[in-house]
Amino acid sequence: SHSRIFHSLRPNVPLPPPSLPLSLTEYVLSLIPATATENNITAVIDSTTDNRLTYPTFIRQIKALASSLQSHTSLSKGHVALILTPTSLHVPVLYFSLLLLGVTIAPANPLSSQSELTHIVHLTKPVIAFATSSTASKISNLPFGTIITDSPSFLSMLNSNSEPRRVETSQSDTAAILFSSGTTGRVKGVLLTHRNFIALIGGFCSLKHVYDDGLANEPHPVSLFPLPLFHVFGFFMMMRAMSMGETLVFMERFDFEGMLKIVEKYRVVYMPVSPPVVTAFAKSDLVKKYDLSSIRLLGSGGAPLGKEVAESFKAKFPNVEIVQGYGLTESGGGASRMIGFDEAKHHGSVGLLAENMEAKIVDPVTGEALSPGQRGELWIRGPTIMKGYIGDDKATIETLDSDGWLKTGDLCYFDSDGFLFIVDRLKELIKYKAYQVPPAELELILLTNPEIADAAVVPYPDEDVGQIPMAFVVRKPGSNITAAQVMEYVAKQVAPYKKIRRVSFVNSIPKSPSGKILRRELVAIALNSGSSK
Ligand code: AMP
Repeated sequence: SHSRIFHSLRPNVPLPPPSLPLSLTEYVLSLIPATATENNITAVIDSTTDNRLTYPTFIRQIKALASSLQSHTSLSKGHVALILTPTSLHVPVLYFSLLLLGVTIAPANPLSSQSELTHIVHLTKPVIAFATSSTASKISNLPFGTIITDSPSFLSMLNSNSEPRRVETSQSDTAAILFSSGTTGRVKGVLLTHRNFIALIGGFCSLKHVYDDGLANEPHPVSLFPLPLFHVFGFFMMMRAMSMGETLVFMERFDFEGMLKIVEKYRVVYMPVSPPVVTAFAKSDLVKKYDLSSIRLLGSGGAPLGKEVAESFKAKFPNVEIVQGYGLTESGGGASRMIGFDEAKHHGSVGLLAENMEAKIVDPVTGEALSPGQRGELWIRGPTIMKGYIGDDKATIETLDSDGWLKTGDLCYFDSDGFLFIVDRLKELIKYKAYQVPPAELELILLTNPEIADAAVVPYPDEDVGQIPMAFVVRKPGSNITAAQVMEYVAKQVAPYKKIRRVSFVNSIPKSPSGKILRRELVAIALNSGSSK
């Protein structure tokens, strides 16, 4: 019923009229504070090379690249560009240039295997790719041209003062296709519009005064990005930080001690991180070797942050606030978050529902909407929710109902103060660190092994990384395939974070009468037995 709808407790944020033609790039550029350009504030630093771009240069490069692409390629509005580049100073420039031209960007994990990329290309049908000299070979067999972003010719495209011809973009046009397996099955392409990100970033910027408290009122705080920019969390956080005129420090490859050195060197104030980074801060002695006194705020998201971890972090770093946020690729990222030091005290919660959003807690069995304190599946609705999955109406209809509610697949409750708590994951997704590992994809690979009769993959809890993918395998009669062989067979075909890291051999896989794998039963078996690692 109506009364069971939870509304955001934050003031509604006025957004540009939906019918106004406006690209995400134009919106972000309009938000960048004047002081960032007038005072030549550094926009981005590549911590590997110490190369930098100031805000004026960054803005000029966006326009120069857009203009070069208009004159040197046939790229135009509505085309899809596949992006396969590790984090670098060029990535934000590339994203914003393409978005300015109305091109849809599809950024994939540069660690993806060839078969993973073939699937992504099949879903998104790009007309061009942007890759580096090290990733280009993975897509060389595909039927479109590739621009190499670490080549001299790309650099020359950035170095001009030309302005692109204006392309009129509707806010409802697709800005990005990001990747998620959703509640079940293989990787799907999530269609996110310019409007989705305009709403998300507009929400953050409207709360700048509260948010600034956390950053000690620094006008241009230094924020470190250990997150990849192809995943929704890094993707929108990068755009948020630039909209607010922060100085972003990029790491190409994450390693914990390398990150501590960067914090010390650049006096980092703020970091969006995944929970394993918080765990490392809480556990590691390395933190004593570096001067980390500049850090004021850590924002954790992408996977659950244990209450105990947050509390041991606070005990070790009493002067650093830690805030948690929650979201999905399908919700354009942040659907709930804590803002400011008062809210940060609610350890274990993922904060308040974001601006302009509504939620329901739905009983997974009866479909009934529940009250505060009761647990059920979280459904959310609002301007940041995806348009659907590309080329997959069936999955879209199963995930988005006709009233616009997104079924998150997360078991949650609201407390009486409106704080949201994530209790468990109902969907089959595994999260290794904050990376998505879709079990269905690994099961398909396992079933192609001639020695395997049946297989199922489930999450197994791990203190450092959250969850690891664990396989239950039924051997074919006469087979002696070992756990190591099973792991190696999969490892050769997937990106490293998707590797199977634990195997248990069984006589059969428990299934429902309709043939669905009973994943909960397998998780319970895994937790109760000492299976071989
Ligand atoms: P992704 O689309 O990769 O961002 O994955 C979204 C899923 O990650 C959510 O549906 C949750 O299951 C999980 N998730 C994200 N943030 C949190 C959080 N703060 N706490 C618990 N789970 C989270």
